[in-house]
Amino acid sequence: MIRLTEIKLPLDHDEDAIGQAIVNKLKIQPEQLHSFNVFKRGYDARKKSAILLIYTLDIEVDNEADLLTEFEKDQHVKVAPDTSYKFVAQASENITERPVVIGFGPCGLFAGLLLAQMGFKPIILERGKEVRERTKDTFGFWRKRTLNTESNVQFGEGGAGTFSDGKLYSQVKDPKHYGRKVITEFVEAGAPDEILYVSKPHIGTFKLVTMIEKMRARIIELGGEIRFSTRVDDIHLDDGQVTGLTLSNGEQLNTRHVVLAVGHSARDTFDMIHKKGIYVEAKPFSVGFRIEHKQSMIDECRFGTNAGNPILGSADYKLVHHCDNGRTVYSFCMCPGGTVVAATSEEGRVVTNGMSQYSRSERNANSAIVVGISPEQDFPGNPLAGIDLQRKLEEQAYELGGSNYDAPAQLIGDFLKGKSSADLGEVQPSYTPGIKLTDLSKVLPQFAIDALREAIPAFNKQIRGFSTNDGLLTGVETRTSSPISIKRDKTFQSINTKGLYPAGEGAGYAGGILSAGIDGIKAAEAVALSMLENA
Ligand code: FAD
Repeated sequence: MIRLTEIKLPLDHDEDAIGQAIVNKLKIQPEQLHSFNVFKRGYDARKKSAILLIYTLDIEVDNEADLLTEFEKDQHVKVAPDTSYKFVAQASENITERPVVIGFGPCGLFAGLLLAQMGFKPIILERGKEVRERTKDTFGFWRKRTLNTESNVQFGEGGAGTFSDGKLYSQVKDPKHYGRKVITEFVEAGAPDEILYVSKPHIGTFKLVTMIEKMRARIIELGGEIRFSTRVDDIHLDDGQVTGLTLSNGEQLNTRHVVLAVGHSARDTFDMIHKKGIYVEAKPFSVGFRIEHKQSMIDECRFGTNAGNPILGSADYKLVHHCDNGRTVYSFCMCPGGTVVAATSEEGRVVTNGMSQYSRSERNANSAIVVGISPEQDFPGNPLAGIDLQRKLEEQAYELGGSNYDAPAQLIGDFLKGKSSADLGEVQPSYTPGIKLTDLSKVLPQFAIDALREAIPAFNKQIRGFSTNDGLLTGVETRTSSPISIKRDKTFQSINTKGLYPAGEGAGYAGGILSAGIDGIKAAEAVALSMLENA
């Protein structure tokens, strides 16, 4: 099979145009082309009046070898790589130990699924509830302000990305095509086929819920076990080797192989592992606000008269600005046609994030606009000092919002002028349970406020209307990534604790659903190989 890349066609091309483009590119007769499959479809919207679709195509043709030789020097004509997943191990009969996975977010889900597929019958421990119960608790908090600290946006089956936009792209290097395995499993669990080929796939919240249930059933069918409402409270160590776990119900579980996939909000678990002497380092993360605009404004700015075209969908953006004070401000987790969500897992704290449905049809676009911070500059000393800083900012936001889980908010124009907001403008807030208009400059350190005040007008040069007076800022965004890194070696085990496999976002090895899933696969492979070696 040959892979053709960078085949560009107009947005409104007709059905036959792809076949014709292949024939033209390879200078072959139409009958020589047997079939083609769209491997990826992206777009180039730099020229709004002439948006192009950009295809990567896998094709079957006569004389494949001759064509490959003829186009040897053309970077866009190559042999299609085999992106199918190959298992690295299969459990043997004499393996009686069961590996344990802590956390059932995307990382734990894929670690558990892969271990089950390789025959290792994992036990998965998840502190939160199964996804339907968790949905009730999470929506209950958004509607009635009653927070369940063990079942919320961060904790429960599916992990932090369950109530999300379900964006499935990542910038991680993936030479072994693990990302393809993640996407393929999602499609088998009911995600739309298009996530296999669109360049920026997304699933949306409601589809994710059903998919996770199907994947859970698959793991159980393969001999795995999943225990909900079961938090790991202690890790037993013997001479630097994991020997077991204490669970929140008091049960002791013996195991020598543990994937630690607890996400970035498991602050009590981080505290526990740090106290046990498991090596932990502070790492940089970012803090800022959610920004909301009308989606129609973003669409028009990005797509001009092509706004609303179903192939393009709701427009997104990605922005970066390097500030005079040395800080970098960037947009993060942009959710087209979505809502801002209350994402705290702790009482007396306010945290924002964003989500959307598959249709992305809500009236507002939102994204996090955040400033990078580092342990050296901003929270030196204790490896867990980043958590203290997050908590402080989240508490300030809670108080500024009125101490009832409303989030503090401010109009962009007022924020830039340094003036407290009193009335909403055109953009209606999507955050529930509610917002309180105020002066957001009180909630973040001054350097971050200065950086945001410089960056937002700078972003207006790329997206006209970005610094509109009426846009809305809601705070605070603090859970952008893990404030710690749990260092591991090339065997994927903690650098000072054998049998512990720190993985996913909480350990500092992922920054989204796809990369967390990929890391879960890698951790599962490492566990499987180690178990076979020691069997
Ligand atoms: P998590 O998903 O955080 O999962 C960790 C799990 O471990 C949790 O379920 C938790 O309950 C459990 N746990 C923690 N401690 C313990 C313990 N001691 N014992 C037992 N269980 C424990 N990423 C994207 O790529 N695209 C998006 O569109 C997107 N949108 C997002 C929207 C929101 C609202 C949020 C909060 C996040 C979003 N993200 C998105 C980020 C993404 O969700 C995370 O990067 C990803 O979920 C990390 O996966 P993980 O498995 O490493 O950790």
